Amino acid sequence: MSVLSDLTAGLADGRVEVIDLTAPLSDRTPILQLPPPFANTQSFSLQEISNYDDRGPAWYWNNISAGEHVGTHFDAPVHWVTGRDGLDVSQVPPRQLIGPAVVIDKSAECASNPDFLLQVRDVEDWQRANGPLPHGGWLLFRSGWDSRAHDQSRFLNANETGSHTPGVSVELAQWLANEAPVIGFGVETVGTDAGAAHGFEPAFPCHSFLLGAGKYGLTQLANLGKLPTTGALLIAAPLPIVRGSGSPARVLALVSR
Ligand code: MN
Repeated sequence: MSVLSDLTAGLADGRVEVIDLTAPLSDRTPILQLPPPFANTQSFSLQEISNYDDRGPAWYWNNISAGEHVGTHFDAPVHWVTGRDGLDVSQVPPRQLIGPAVVIDKSAECASNPDFLLQVRDVEDWQRANGPLPHGGWLLFRSGWDSRAHDQSRFLNANETGSHTPGVSVELAQWLANEAPVIGFGVETVGTDAGAAHGFEPAFPCHSFLLGAGKYGLTQLANLGKLPTTGALLIAAPLPIVRGSGSPARVLALVSR
């Protein structure tokens, strides 16, 4: 049996399960809110073209509008100034859109501390228990934040001191960019960096170091709690927007049962 026919048989008989890591995309999908003087992204919206009516009696369709970084989405290297000479989202090799994914679960820590920062030692501890991070794959950070994704205010968790959402330390961002074998880092929050990361040195270290190293980000993932710690195969499908800095993406995981 070929590898692919084995996979097809596994999908048919349930030995391989498909888990959707994508949040629903609508005008209620939470979006990033930058403070003045910075410009902000548009929400997702539908504009109806026809709905089985005089404008098109047998067909329903819409125009869509949205920022590139809305909902579950892919960050390409050119998104950040450190990656400005890197790939745009249309240039990401398809081979890199399928790869192994592992999950580090700090949802309990994040529930008691919304400013929780994942540290190098957390990943080192994880590796001692689970083996090395996957070459060419993804490290996915489970923070539990997807349970807030239906509510913009709870998702951004902002007060007068800014947004309070989990992320990674400066040292871990640097390590993931320069030493880890993964090609990307995925999160459940509105961005790969912590809510407070505007005040870090450098600011937004995950964006700065990973995208600067030609690596990728996946944001606002759902259902990470349904994944095994190791062994999932992740498929990320951003639109090939020419010159795009990112794209809403359908992200799926294949899991052995
Ligand atoms: Mn983004």
